[in-house]
Amino acid sequence: MAPEVSIIGAGIAGLTLALSLHTQGIPCAVYESRPEPQNIGGAVMLSPNSLRLFDNIGIYDGLKRHGYNFDTLYFRDLAGSLKETYPFGSVEKYGYSGLRVYRYQLIDLLLEKLKANGTSMHFNHKFSHVISESEDTVTWQLINGTTKTSSLLIGADGIHSRVRQYMYPDLSPKFTGMAGITAAVPTANIKLPSPDYKMPVTIMSPTHGAFVIAPQTPDASEVFIGKQKRMAEHSREGWEQVFADKEASIAFLREGAEVFGDIAVTATSDIPLEHVNVWPFYVIPKLDSWSSSNRRVLLVGDSAHCIPPSAGQGISQAVEDVVMLAILLGKGRSDKKDLGWWQQFRQARLQQILLLNARIDRRRLPKLLGSEEKDDDEQGFDLDWLYGINVVAEVERYVGGL
Ligand SMILES: Cc1cc2nc3c(=O)[nH]c(=O)nc-3n(C[C@H](O)[C@H](O)[C@H](O)COP(=O)(O)OP(=O)(O)OC[C@H]3O[C@@H](n4cnc5c(N)ncnc54)[C@H](O)[C@@H]3O)c2cc1C
Repeated sequence: MAPEVSIIGAGIAGLTLALSLHTQGIPCAVYESRPEPQNIGGAVMLSPNSLRLFDNIGIYDGLKRHGYNFDTLYFRDLAGSLKETYPFGSVEKYGYSGLRVYRYQLIDLLLEKLKANGTSMHFNHKFSHVISESEDTVTWQLINGTTKTSSLLIGADGIHSRVRQYMYPDLSPKFTGMAGITAAVPTANIKLPSPDYKMPVTIMSPTHGAFVIAPQTPDASEVFIGKQKRMAEHSREGWEQVFADKEASIAFLREGAEVFGDIAVTATSDIPLEHVNVWPFYVIPKLDSWSSSNRRVLLVGDSAHCIPPSAGQGISQAVEDVVMLAILLGKGRSDKKDLGWWQQFRQARLQQILLLNARIDRRRLPKLLGSEEKDDDEQGFDLDWLYGINVVAEVERYVGGL
């Protein structure tokens, strides 16, 4: 029997890949360093391009029930005037609204399906390094010393990927100097300017950055609140201390709250410690290749690319990566040309998102970015290319066309 595909990392990329491979009839095993499923960072935003894919694998209905559905992000100035809207979904246009849902709920739904189909999940199993790679197999090791041989080793192990080190030993993720400081609070705590006040909302100050409020439960009874902070880089241990110092994060969220008005003062008046998070924004440069020379080791999700958060596409892009890859593998199309096509397709899309991120940042944070100028294009955002795509059809077209 041919050795199975091994996936390193049980984050959203790894679990979605495992499920997508199963759909293609490809056996796999998942290895995760943590002792149990990971629930980092509270809730996440998902847009129609990934929700369509979650629908294909049968978890969208469950997800939708657990999260807050919305179509538009609202941007207001300190006086409360609406300055801009940003589309995040539309049933009419794309078949799906945007969704804000707890990461653990998405992970639980994926795990439930994987359990039902018998995929082997190995928590508390940390990948160490690749030992050797042949034309057909890759031999690698866990940090407990166990050695394994797989037909493919797929690194879905996040921004600080060890699998990537095999291909790029000298590459370190670059800290952008910014972190998101976030919390979850009951909506009932907040004094809204009016009963029909629209959220998710970002209140923008020319001097204090932006204060974000976004519902994240189906009935909008709980909201995420967040601000970005300029920070120096820390070592791994240093970040752990920053993450643990919840009081400092709460103090930062409260700092200058009055600038943003009663809504922010009340939102930060009583923040439960257990729902405070720090998200340091790291990026990696565009990689030459997402596969090793013999194509037995591949990278997906944040280990292959890590984009800044402005367009809310981190997870959705990781999901697109793995669904496309699973179809190619299922069709037996994983030679140099096929994987090259996949990588090029993915990177072209990521490049478009980086341009979108820059445009969003220019429009929303002109002073913080050191420029007095707003983007001179005041047009709305046309995001059909982002949300309307059917990546499954794209791969099928590629496979069918050759
Ligand atoms: C606080 C926070 C909030 C975020 N909010 C959003 C959001 O709202 N919307 C959005 O789109 N994106 C968001 N992101 C970014 C998003 O989480 C990532 O883009 C996405 O999770 C990438 O998925 P991934 O599976 O590639 O990597 P990860 O989610 O990082 O998963 C990697 C997995 O690999 C495991 N692992 C690492 N090393 C090893 C090893 N050596 N051996 C075995 N396992 C290993 C890790 O424990 C982890 O479970 C947020 C990130 C953070 C930190």
